[in-house]
Amino acid sequence: MLNLCPVKPTNPTRTEPIIDRHDQFMSLNYPRYPIAITRGEGCRLYDTEDREYIDLFAGFGASVLGHCHPDLLQAVHEQSTQLWHVGNLLHTEPQTRAAEAIARYGFGGRSFFSHSGADANEAAIKLARLYGRQYPGPRGPRHKVISMSGSFHGRSFGTMPATGEPKVREGFEPLPAGFVNVPYDDADAVEDAIDDEVVAVLVEPIQGEGGIRVPGPSYLPDLRKLCDRRDLLLICDEVWTGAGRTGRFFGYQHWDIEPDMMTLGKGVGGGLPVGVMSARDNVAALYDARQQGGVKHATTLGGNCLAMAAAATVFEVIDRDRLLSHAVRLGDHAVHRLQQLADRIPAIKEIRGKALFIGVDLDIRSGDTWFDQVGDVVGKCLERGVMVNGTQQSVLRLAPPLVIDEELLDAGLDVIEDVIAGVTGR
Ligand code: PLP
Repeated sequence: MLNLCPVKPTNPTRTEPIIDRHDQFMSLNYPRYPIAITRGEGCRLYDTEDREYIDLFAGFGASVLGHCHPDLLQAVHEQSTQLWHVGNLLHTEPQTRAAEAIARYGFGGRSFFSHSGADANEAAIKLARLYGRQYPGPRGPRHKVISMSGSFHGRSFGTMPATGEPKVREGFEPLPAGFVNVPYDDADAVEDAIDDEVVAVLVEPIQGEGGIRVPGPSYLPDLRKLCDRRDLLLICDEVWTGAGRTGRFFGYQHWDIEPDMMTLGKGVGGGLPVGVMSARDNVAALYDARQQGGVKHATTLGGNCLAMAAAATVFEVIDRDRLLSHAVRLGDHAVHRLQQLADRIPAIKEIRGKALFIGVDLDIRSGDTWFDQVGDVVGKCLERGVMVNGTQQSVLRLAPPLVIDEELLDAGLDVIEDVIAGVTGR
């Protein structure tokens, strides 16, 4: 089994049996650390040996309100005593409440609920194809989607070709046709790629897996204008950036534009599996079973009552507890501290991000896999009880729960700074 770092369990009798059974019965598709987590509380995690970790990654950003947040506990518990699932032939209050919140804090779109970021993007890509049929080009229906190099939109068949990371597709060909990747943060490249078959532009407001890349100030507004001019749908993939992560409810809001569709995953369920595709009315109409004379898209457990009770609560708590401004303040604080370190250590090339979505780009001169230097930093932080993550070989990623307080963030940053200084040795 490929392990990510040399962290050794100190009490093997509790951890190793879990790992052994995992190795025997589970798909080994995920490289994992030899750590088994048993519980979480706020921004702290505890393993089988009761070791404590400061969680600065929130399970790929999904635990936006931390672990076992009292409001989420109450909402999910209350819902669990009333109703779990009935299927989408009937109405339920939690679904409607979650959809209302997404419309209210977003751009008024209609929500389609699913379970992951990838299937939210699938729903968006399918809807774009219906739009291209309804509003064809001079040579017939339009179906192509332009997406960006370095992007990540999922690993399903519809999203692999949209994902601008060739490694993700390797071995799975042939993939569905109709996708074009162009460089990120380059609206001219998008314009150059438009032909009569293009119907949509799919973009992350800030690239997450791509290494926390924040585009220039005119990029999203330029894409918006371009899409308006050429009757293309602008789809913002907010799977990483949605649900408050960047200090706004949704990432596109930093640029004062509105997309035609946005997709959500990760944080929107507060740790329960939720995917959302939200579309403006005239686009959503193409999924309207009454208007279309039948079902165009569906998924059995989409909008599951427990997941929806959590999703609605996530937005209510972010608003009530002013977590957006809190995330901005703490993000600025963290960037300031890391910047001071960068001024001393040339191995830190750049600090990027917004609010509590932060990337530290390291100068990796030896080794070329992300198990090397950024992996070393992540592994050593873990050994010292701080959970962070690495992406794109050289970028250390921080995405703590939005509820983290300054003292705990500082304790985590103390360790990170010490480890970076030690590992880079420069
Ligand atoms: N979109 C973005 C921007 C992502 O970062 C990811 C996952 O990292 C996805 C979509 C896919 O989400 P999921 O892993 O929930 O399928």
